[in-house]
Amino acid sequence: MKVVIIGAGMGGMSAAIALRQIGIETEVYERVTENKPVGAAISVWSNGVKCLNYLGLEQETARLGGIVNSMSYADAHSGDTMCRFSMQPLIDQVGQRPYPIARAELQSMLMEAYGIDEINFGMKMVSVADGTDAATATFADGTSVTADIIIGADGASSITREYVLGGPVTRRYAGYVNYNGLVDVDERISPATEWTVYVGDGKRVSAMPVADGRFYFFFDVVEPQGITYEKSSAREVLRSHFAGWAPGVQTLIDLLDPMTTNRVEILDLDPFDTWVKGRVAVLGDAAHNTTPDIGQGGCSAMEDAIALQWALRDNPDDVHAALAAYQRARVERAGDLVLRARKRCDLMHAKDPAATEAWYSELRNEDGTNVIRGIVGNIVGGPLTPVS
Ligand SMILES: Cc1cc2nc3c(=O)[nH]c(=O)nc-3n(C[C@H](O)[C@H](O)[C@H](O)COP(=O)(O)OP(=O)(O)OC[C@H]3O[C@@H](n4cnc5c(N)ncnc54)[C@H](O)[C@@H]3O)c2cc1C
Repeated sequence: MKVVIIGAGMGGMSAAIALRQIGIETEVYERVTENKPVGAAISVWSNGVKCLNYLGLEQETARLGGIVNSMSYADAHSGDTMCRFSMQPLIDQVGQRPYPIARAELQSMLMEAYGIDEINFGMKMVSVADGTDAATATFADGTSVTADIIIGADGASSITREYVLGGPVTRRYAGYVNYNGLVDVDERISPATEWTVYVGDGKRVSAMPVADGRFYFFFDVVEPQGITYEKSSAREVLRSHFAGWAPGVQTLIDLLDPMTTNRVEILDLDPFDTWVKGRVAVLGDAAHNTTPDIGQGGCSAMEDAIALQWALRDNPDDVHAALAAYQRARVERAGDLVLRARKRCDLMHAKDPAATEAWYSELRNEDGTNVIRGIVGNIVGGPLTPVS
């Protein structure tokens, strides 16, 4: 059995490690020529951490992860705490601490675990096709590769998805832009082991710890899609969007480095339930492109990788049965996370301003129970976090 994986993102690399774990020959092809992920960090929630642990990366993950002992919501303008609560009940309920991790470090960890030298960089797939005995991927340099299975982990603008679905799909602009980066921990912004979220006016500013004394920060701003933006202007743009916001937010804007602050327009895609065509299947954002509002896109990609391993383990001699089992295991769960994120996105960005105001009022009376219930609801349902 040989499996070719297109895309060396967190989904593709998790899948490559997972399949190798059960003795399957894998080859990974990646269009970029070096590991340079866009985006500062991600929160790897407990379901994602359990996947990384399962892949044998428990110690490295814990070393790279920030320690989030508490969470708080703060009023956008006054900076007053609306609610603050311990994360321990969440950890107790799901049996694993979540870890925010710098994206480049997470990516390097996965690539090193697999073997960086074994990844075929600079190989842009231009087409993929199923066949009776093998599937074929063709690359921009004119070469091609065949395998028993081709997994398209080729991200949000996946070519494999087009092939599996029989045509292109249009992603939906979710209505907001996320500016993100890393800064040194500064307790004027947030306590060092807290995830602090400033909310107001349908906007959000967040700071959470990653390893080595840094905060992963982001600003959510409702902006039209496709406006011109100069990276060097991040500070001025954010000052204007967040004029009059709390001192902690102003400190964050003062401290960030505009040249390493990313601006990402947020899109998603309606869930779809065909993930497989013959010997070709999608995985990760190619299969379920979500807004980041519940921090589950990457975690869901890692869950895909474990589910794919189990499907191949349980159907060692039948590619079609294995891929059908993979699709069955993942479609509903991954689609549910996309829709949960979309709902959260609308609430946080004041799609219905009255609902968002009501949420702010609820946060002022929150003891953590409802927030943790919501996060646990996202975490459970994956291969390593079954609903009890
Ligand atoms: C602002 C933001 C914040 C986020 N925060 C979180 C979070 O907190 N928690 C979380 O779990 N998730 C988060 N996500 C989602 C997460 O980043 C994605 O779900 C995750 O990166 C998906 O991994 P992937 O491997 O499927 O795709 P990608 O990471 O996009 O990797 C795809 C890879 O395929 C390669 N590729 C593409 N096309 C080709 C081709 N034709 N040939 C060869 N290679 C190709 C690309 O170069 C890339 O390396 C966030 C996303 C955004 C935008």
